[in-house]
Amino acid sequence: MIDRERLVDSFLELVKIDSPSGEEDLMAEEMVRRLKSLNVDVWEDDHGNVLGRYPDPTSSIETIGSPILLSAHLDTVEPGKGITPHFDGPDIIRSDGTTILAADDKGGCAVILEVVESIQEDDSNHRPLEIVLTRGEEIGLVGAVNLNYSDLSSNIAIVIDAGGPPTTIQSASPYYYGYDIQVIGRAAHAGLEPEKGVPAIRIASEIIVGLPQGRLDDETTGNVGIISGGHVVNAVPDRCRIQGEMRSMSKETVELLVADAMVHLDQIRQAWPDAEIDADFDLKMPGFKLDPLDPAATLIFKVLESLEMIPAPQAFGGGTDGNIFRGHGIASVVIGRGGYEQHTVDEYLVIPEMLDCAKVVETACMTL
Ligand SMILES: [Zn+2]
Repeated sequence: MIDRERLVDSFLELVKIDSPSGEEDLMAEEMVRRLKSLNVDVWEDDHGNVLGRYPDPTSSIETIGSPILLSAHLDTVEPGKGITPHFDGPDIIRSDGTTILAADDKGGCAVILEVVESIQEDDSNHRPLEIVLTRGEEIGLVGAVNLNYSDLSSNIAIVIDAGGPPTTIQSASPYYYGYDIQVIGRAAHAGLEPEKGVPAIRIASEIIVGLPQGRLDDETTGNVGIISGGHVVNAVPDRCRIQGEMRSMSKETVELLVADAMVHLDQIRQAWPDAEIDADFDLKMPGFKLDPLDPAATLIFKVLESLEMIPAPQAFGGGTDGNIFRGHGIASVVIGRGGYEQHTVDEYLVIPEMLDCAKVVETACMTL
């Protein structure tokens, strides 16, 4: 049975292991150790993501139905070093206010451990479980992008990585394009012979005013986030770089924005034939709208209903590993694990909601 005390203890131990993005080794080692001790067949892929199967295919444990993937991420945002969790009343855990708490996503990791342990000790009929704990989720879903999908056979996944109670189901997330534009001009002395130069910063500024910025409609935003260029004040700058993003719940809208930006760049190229303008627009994250007939959604709605919980689908502006899994043909639902104020030093965890999350995930593993 899902055990509150054991779940909370795991959570408290995991949050004390520092694992900001790029520094996940200790957290990965600890999860490998814990999963192994639960008889999970566990390994790390080339990227260092932790993968597991339960039961171990060489064991004699019988399972029911098709496999299900349970996923969380190993990394955290900053400030995430030296986290000191403490109780605020019987049901809330907070940091000391100088760091995040890292319920995002140590809460998800703790839930997965608890579900495996509970299923094992109860000897419950369950689906074959696959486990994926990614690195670098917070810096662009890097682990999920580099995951070795041929190691997996699940067609459905539960990604335990939303805020709020487990009834919080991510119903949509945006299509997200990042861009990187390089303007290469020509340097010249700014005071003596500026006409010999090709002013990269000026050209970049003409580009920037034509790029979509701010809120464009209900479900679409754009942002120029970083500019860099120039070396000294008395030289015509020969380089300028512009980086930004566009996101929309509508694939058509964001693709139209990219196409418009390309046309705009061509106009600037014509106006400045001596400049070289290289632009890279990259769909960093495919968005989605949850289809009620999606097999993962159908399963989770059924499970919530059986536990007398009312699903509360919500569109989030951000993405999770679920976006990437979907792109690899794995129907994925993202559910809440009891955390709030994520990515801030005010982050906190509501224990009964994490406990409910573990019950939901365990029930999903036992439901066909
Ligand atoms: Zn997360």
